[in-house]
Amino acid sequence: MRFVHDTLPQRVCFGSAAAAANVSREIGRLGAARVMLIAAPSEMHLADTIATDIPVAVRHDDVVMHVPVEVAARARQAAADSSVDALLSVGGGSTTGLAKAVAMTTGLPIVAVPTTYAGSEATPVWGLTEGARKTTGVDQRVLPKVIVYDAALTMSLPVDMSVASGLNALAHCVDSMWAPNADPINAALAAEGIRSLADGLPKVVADPMDLDGREHALYAAYLSAAAFASAGSGLHHKICHVLGGRYNLPHAQTHATVLPYVLAFNAPAAPDAERRIATALNSTGLGGGTALDGLVALKRELDAPHALADYGFTEDSIDEAAEAILPAVPPSNPRPVTAEDLRALLRAALSGSDPGTAF
Ligand code: NAD
Repeated sequence: MRFVHDTLPQRVCFGSAAAAANVSREIGRLGAARVMLIAAPSEMHLADTIATDIPVAVRHDDVVMHVPVEVAARARQAAADSSVDALLSVGGGSTTGLAKAVAMTTGLPIVAVPTTYAGSEATPVWGLTEGARKTTGVDQRVLPKVIVYDAALTMSLPVDMSVASGLNALAHCVDSMWAPNADPINAALAAEGIRSLADGLPKVVADPMDLDGREHALYAAYLSAAAFASAGSGLHHKICHVLGGRYNLPHAQTHATVLPYVLAFNAPAAPDAERRIATALNSTGLGGGTALDGLVALKRELDAPHALADYGFTEDSIDEAAEAILPAVPPSNPRPVTAEDLRALLRAALSGSDPGTAF
């Protein structure tokens, strides 16, 4: 074995119904006296329950997915106007993303309380959109200092969004197996993330108030993001980045839909990854043995998103999308990728046809 692995400096506090106490303690540890609370309107009811005991100087709910630059500018202005010394974000990836945009220019510390399984809280990756163009980058200043996980806060996340978001986490895990900086530590985190998602998500679907299922999904969200932060973006993330940025497709649902097609494409050329994914996915008895069988069975059980056509992607965009994705394909992808491969992948994902016969 030969590898170089970056472990990110973060404090991770995990505990159901413990967010208020954990946030209060951690804000105190940071010595913050004027906190900017960031949460979308649909997340503010959650934020209100946990920000009871901290010095909130300003509440900011102007959150938009993919962080348009003008939304980031307004949040930075609000932070400056109120002379805040820390940021508390309570919400999904869009809310965490806005806190990151503020931290990027101010250096303010973030305490992140995630309420979906997107995993942005555990990465130093920021994203901003200008018009139809999404730019992402890596900056250690945007990495939250503290993550406070509380599965009770995810219970209000609707089941369909929980499934899509959970599969977004699963995509971090799967792509981490062959992304440019894949290493054995990432693979171990990712495999445990896959196992925990395969265990937790069916419980969430069967009963959205099942705390055990929610905890397993949230624990996996952290593992998936830690693996992804270290491994980088593989083929799957490159494809979804283009689809989300150019065609404004919803983030989690796009990941949930595309994943089996990338797995079907790469698995024959990545037998070690295939075996690890298969073992983790099939640990709960789902599927028929291969990684793809396991993923297809899990998606069926979850009634997960399965066709890009359902989210506004159309046949006449396939050629253009394939051309846009091709230059971004990591040279280290286990299988060489041609424009025709990408067209076949997108065609199959558009209609949701059997990934096993797509290539
Ligand atoms: P989101 O944050 O947009 O949330 C989706 C919807 O669910 C929103 O309406 C939100 O208000 C609502 N919601 C969130 N939590 C809720 C809860 N517990 N109860 C009820 N409603 C709730 O979606 P997302 O999928 O979490 O995040 C997507 C964004 O995150 C994208 O912009 C994506 O690029 C970014 N992202 C970034 C990284 C990174 O490393 N930088 C990683 C993953 C995702």
